[in-house]
Amino acid sequence: MAQWRDVGAGNYVLSTAGALLNTGLVIGRDRALVIDTGCGPRQGAEILAAVRELTDLPLTVVNTHAHFDHYFGNAVFAAAGVTDFWAHENAVREMAESSESQRAVLSPAGSDAAAAEPEMAAGEGPNSMMVLPTATVKDQPVLIDLGGRVATLFYLGRGHTDGDLLVGAESALFAGDLVEQGAHPSFEDSYPADWANTLRQLSALRGRYEFLVPGHGLPVSDNFVRVMADTMTTAVRQARQASREMPDLATKAIPILPYGPDQSRWFIKRLQETSA
Ligand SMILES: [Zn+2]
Repeated sequence: MAQWRDVGAGNYVLSTAGALLNTGLVIGRDRALVIDTGCGPRQGAEILAAVRELTDLPLTVVNTHAHFDHYFGNAVFAAAGVTDFWAHENAVREMAESSESQRAVLSPAGSDAAAAEPEMAAGEGPNSMMVLPTATVKDQPVLIDLGGRVATLFYLGRGHTDGDLLVGAESALFAGDLVEQGAHPSFEDSYPADWANTLRQLSALRGRYEFLVPGHGLPVSDNFVRVMADTMTTAVRQARQASREMPDLATKAIPILPYGPDQSRWFIKRLQETSA
């Protein structure tokens, strides 16, 4: 079973197999907050069991954004009595539109078949229904009082998606997929030109938090986030320059971008779509 990492002041991180999703846990006196629930009933149940090793308190759930690996486990938590599910309003809109089509990536022929959630892929079996957040965060931060400990849900702008929520709790900042460690950032639904600015705002919070927890991978430093932002700004400039010089051959820029062939292709596609 996956092990919790202590990130100070009642905060914990659990990294579960597959895509090494980081689930956050903030434990107060009266309630505990779970950040991201996994990609289906199997991973969701593993996460809930791990949560119950640390606390029996009533739970509130936050989904950092509208990608399947961060909220497809919600039904497990609803079945366990959780009623409060939070996300950014843009993420909730996206979930309402794309949840059913996102099931396909989990099918045996899908792009994330390794996640091994056949029930979720088929939409059959216990806890395979979609449970979408009903509590939304907009531009203003939302404070969640857990009893003697407050978690702050806030939005810094578009980046990995248009609805990436951050959760700050004393010693730890849970950044979702805005920050990626151990793999390239994922650009499929991203806003590349905005993302670098959002990361700069994030790194400006330096000193406020001891631990910065990405959506996947190990906790990172503030400097890691600054380098990620600078790399992205340079990549935006290079890709724009390449598409000015050879408008029909923008994909020629792929080899000079630092994100590997797959994600560099997505980077250029999204840069073009979101700059139009
Ligand atoms: Zn994501």
